[in-house]
Amino acid sequence: MTATIIDGKAFAATVRKKVASHVATLKQGHGITPGLAVVLVGEDPASQVYVRSKGKMTVEVGMNSYEHRLDADTSEADLLALIERLNADTDVHGILVQLPLPGHLNEDLVINAIDPAKDVDGFHISNVGLLGTGQKSMVPCTPLGCLMMLRDHHGSLSGMDAVVIGRSNIVGKPMAQLLLGDSCTVTIAHSRTKDLPGVARRADIVIAAVGRPEMVPGDWIKPGATVIDVGINRIEAPERGTNEDGSVKTRLVGDVAFDSCAEVAGAITPVPGGVGPMTIACLLANTVTACCRAHDLPEPE
Ligand code: NDP
Repeated sequence: MTATIIDGKAFAATVRKKVASHVATLKQGHGITPGLAVVLVGEDPASQVYVRSKGKMTVEVGMNSYEHRLDADTSEADLLALIERLNADTDVHGILVQLPLPGHLNEDLVINAIDPAKDVDGFHISNVGLLGTGQKSMVPCTPLGCLMMLRDHHGSLSGMDAVVIGRSNIVGKPMAQLLLGDSCTVTIAHSRTKDLPGVARRADIVIAAVGRPEMVPGDWIKPGATVIDVGINRIEAPERGTNEDGSVKTRLVGDVAFDSCAEVAGAITPVPGGVGPMTIACLLANTVTACCRAHDLPEPE
């Protein structure tokens, strides 16, 4: 293996440390405790894990965590009423509605009901527009975490060729905006892209946000390029044996074939331990930012 491993877990720990110190200052200096409300509708197992871990880390950095767990058949009106209450609650500085929502709920409607100033996921249409026009906004956590790792590794990204594979509203599109903001030449690839291997091979930076286990092989990567793997895919791992109920054990893999890409890339993020921890750290950082803006106090850098 030749690539440097970009250690998202360690980097996220330093981000959380900075957040904790800012929270301590807000508490001691101003008597304000930032608060993050997380709303979970239904019992999706992956979402439950994410929500639990977000709540735990929120408390660990000294902030207040408010968890709202609603039944899977909660009506849109009831969910919107909860969001209205959280919008009006001055103890709540950040609101996150865990996606995906059950099918009977309109995600766009729900997300756009959140006060944009408290939209710590950065998915509200106002924040999307502000980011797209280079104005101060709440920036989506996963792409923000990727950008922070890239800046940390490279310093300036100016003039680099970046290919983002995936065009979702929560990862691909905002990632492309952020890279453009840092003066990369950006290509967004997707399922209809012609000659994806050729497109990827031109890139100094490849961001894989596809949701397909180990789709990007090493021969799509330009020697020395930086590979950021956003994917989180659970696959069967028969080599690990079986669970008590007889089912095959599983493991997490990214959208990138790690071993073959690490042979060619200059730097690469692992899964787990790369983008995932940075996403939660950025959520906490966004909550502190939202709190500072709400109280007209200087924002963390
Ligand atoms: P979506 O399913 O919303 O989007 C996937 C994108 O990949 C689409 O734009 C799709 O193209 C594109 N795509 C699918 N198949 C191909 C293909 N064969 N070739 C090229 N492009 C393809 O996924 P998300 O953006 O929500 O998530 C992507 C991955 O990132 C998932 O593994 C998810 O679990 C992970 N994730 C990780 C986070 C973290 O914290 N680390 C946070 C959020 C997501 P098209 O638009 O044409 O259909």
